[in-house]
Parts: sequence; structure tokens; C-alpha cells
Amino acid sequence: MTDPSDPLLMDKIVNLCKRRGFVFPSAEIYGGFRSTYDYGPIGVLMLRNVKDAWWRTMVQLRTDVVGLDASILSPPAVWEASGHLQNFTDPLVDCRNCKERFRQDHLDDLDVCPSCGARGTLTEARSFNLMFKTHAGPVEESAAVAYLRPETAQGMFTNFANVVNTSRKKPPFGIAQVGKSFRNEITPGNFVFRTREFEQMEMEFFVPPADGPTWYRYWCEERVRWYQDLGIPAEKLRLRPHDADELSHYSVGTSDVEFLFPWGWGELEGVANRTDFDLNQHARHSGVDLSYFDQESATRYVPHVIEPAAGATRSMMAFLLAGYDEEEVRGETRTVLRLHPRLAPFKVAVLPLSKKEPLTALARDVLSEVQPHWMCDYDETQAIGRRYRRQDEIGTPFCVTIDFESLEDKAVTVRERDSMTQERIAIDALAGHLRDAIGF
Ligand code: ATP
Repeated sequence: MTDPSDPLLMDKIVNLCKRRGFVFPSAEIYGGFRSTYDYGPIGVLMLRNVKDAWWRTMVQLRTDVVGLDASILSPPAVWEASGHLQNFTDPLVDCRNCKERFRQDHLDDLDVCPSCGARGTLTEARSFNLMFKTHAGPVEESAAVAYLRPETAQGMFTNFANVVNTSRKKPPFGIAQVGKSFRNEITPGNFVFRTREFEQMEMEFFVPPADGPTWYRYWCEERVRWYQDLGIPAEKLRLRPHDADELSHYSVGTSDVEFLFPWGWGELEGVANRTDFDLNQHARHSGVDLSYFDQESATRYVPHVIEPAAGATRSMMAFLLAGYDEEEVRGETRTVLRLHPRLAPFKVAVLPLSKKEPLTALARDVLSEVQPHWMCDYDETQAIGRRYRRQDEIGTPFCVTIDFESLEDKAVTVRERDSMTQERIAIDALAGHLRDAIGF
């Protein structure tokens, strides 16, 4: 097993991501663009799987949550009401000596520059708003100012009445959204942990005010379980309640779901009790009544909101780190990503032993048996051992090998990633066998 405190683990992951097409530095042919990344042919599959797994748990398997896909561009009025224009700031300090910039709340010692080590060179903190500002339309005038959303949440609040009126849902119910958010982070870094463009998976759960605390506890537990169910070991996860001075401007209670990254504990998700802050703010600023009338009790109230807000790109990185393993196999090091099958980019790889007919024709038939059900890879180059290792490295749970016997016995060898055990399975029974083994 890999040593979880391996100082090289981060480098290994970044290297694997580049080498195997998970994540590339963006605009690399132009020298790169700091802190932006592109998801390659394998990474796009995994990122999609992370988002699908979230959607499945949060929307598909429930009757009390509906989905939404709101616009990324939004007018200043939204951010005025939400408090982001005023409050979505980080304290920025500069080093007068080396000119590096830091977030003051990330510094251990306010007297020493963490970059050049100079003493007394850090400036006073200035508030820096993290929102990206742009202009909608051809004229760059103040009336045309628009912002790229720094979180997906506001779309759920501004559409609250639309969703209530069209979905027949009543509190307690939630609105879920997955999509890009943008923050002009002062210190992006640690690979895709903190970037200026990233993807979020957020849900706003609207409840009768008295039920807020109960639902807050419920979502804290549910969300920790989600990461565990997808294979992150319990000892690498913790739920950390915020201290009072850490709370965002809208929250009366927040707990972070944290993962043990190679550099220490870091946030994967925040679960916040946002009370009626957002709906009240939008009602006040827009003039539209956003209260809810409960027919049964004949009462009108502004729902309280519990928000589990997760990062898709950051979670993907945690799943990669948790799944990465190296082991000795017959004197060689085998790298294997022990990803949950739901997250694995490919579920099945189809590998003909030779790249000649008639084996490849049979392999194509086998591929067409499995391809409609799962994302599959097809690879006929190199020695079979090398091909197994390539699949292990990207986390493919099952390899299906077609050999010369297969032409006679109409059966194939199915190899499992973690145990490397092999089984002979009739081609007729293959799809059913894999469905049981993969679990869906
Ligand atoms: P931090 O304190 O790390 O800046 P935050 O508490 O401001 O994060 P939230 O506003 O709670 O973060 O956002 C919810 C989730 O969105 C985070 O838990 C994280 O997974 C993800 N996220 C936030 N900012 C970034 C970023 N710059 N890059 C990647 N993911 C991010």
C-alpha cells in the first residue's frame, strides 16, 4: 500500500494526470495560463462521473430535490442583494520586498513573508473582491456591468418562486445545481484544489424555520457518507464545525467536510445553515414576495435554507489521491487507481491478444456487447501485461481479454483490477456477469 504521507504523492498525481490525459495545464502551447486546467479524454470522463454520482444521490434517488441549470452571467443586482458585492472579499497583503501576494488569513506569522522570508515587509491587509467583473454587450459602460457567478447558489434563490410554482414541491424540498463558478483567488494553487474557474455541486434545501437545525445535522451526516460510499476511507474524512468568527456573512452554522490532503486537512464541501437570509435579501431588493404559504397549517413563512456546497473539481482530486496506490508485483511496481466503479473513467477495457483477424473481429463483437452499457476502452497495442498496467493506472475495474481460445470456446478472460484475479466467462454471459461485478 502507498504511504499516505508520501511527500511525492502530489507530484505523482499531477504527473499521472498529465501523462494519462486526466488534466492538462491550460493554454500549454502558449506557456500556460496560471491556475487554469483542461480536463483531457480520461479526466473529462472522471469529472463527469463525480458530477453524475452527486446528481444521482442528491436528485435521482430522492423525491424532495429538483434540478436547475442557471446562467453564469448575472446582473449586479443579484450580488448586491446576496451581499457578495459588499462581503465577498479576502484580505490581501503584499510583500514590499519580493512583491508576492498572500491571503492574510492563510499566513501563520504576519511579520514574516512566507515567500522570501523578509521581516516586516508585509503591507496592511486590503479587502479584495473575488468576483470577476465583465461587460455584457459592445459598450463598456457601467450600465452593462455583469458578473461571473462566484457560486451557483444564487440561481436557486432567484428561481425559488419559479420552482415552487412549477414543480409542486413544498418545504422541505431542495433545488440542486452543478456548474461552473469563478473566483479571482489571490493565491490559487495546489493543482486543481484552488483555481479561478472551477465546478461546484450545490443544493439549497428549503425548510420550515423551526426545522432548520434538524435538517442541518441531517445534511452534515449525509454528505460525509457520500464521500465514504464512493471509497474515501473514514480516517481521511472529518466534519469540522466553523468557529463563530469563521462564519460567512449569511450563516448561523457551517461545518466543513474535510479531506486529508498531502499538505493537511482541506475543505471538500461546506454545509451551511443560511437561515432566511438569502430569500429575505432577494425579496427586499427585487420587491417580489418570496414567502411560502403552507395550505395545511394556513401559515405564511420565509423558508430557512440548508446548503451543502461541494466542489466537483476539488472532489475529483481527493478521489484521485485517495485511490492512488503502488504495490510490488513480481518485482515490479504496479500503479493502480483504486477508484469506485462509479467514478472510474472506463468500467471495462476490451483487449484482443493480437491485433490480427479473426481475433479483432471477435473483439469488436465483444465490445459491441458491453459498449451500450458502460464507457469502455478498446486497446490492441503492446503486450497484454503492459495493457493491464495502463488500465490499472487509470482505474479501469475490469479488463476483458480475447485470446485464440476464445475463437473456439466463445469465452473471454475477465480480469479484476484490485485482486488481479482472472475468470473465464462465456461471451453470452459477459454483460450480465459484468453488471453484477460492477454493481450497475
Ligand atoms: P475556501 O475557504 O477554501 O476559499 P470557501 O469556504 O470559500 O473555500 P465555499 O464558498 O464553501 O468555499 O464553496 C464550496 C465548495 O466549492 C468548496 O468546499 C470547494 O470544494 C469548492 N471551491 C470553492 N472555491 C474553489 C476554488 N477556488 N477552486 C476549486 N474549488 C473551489
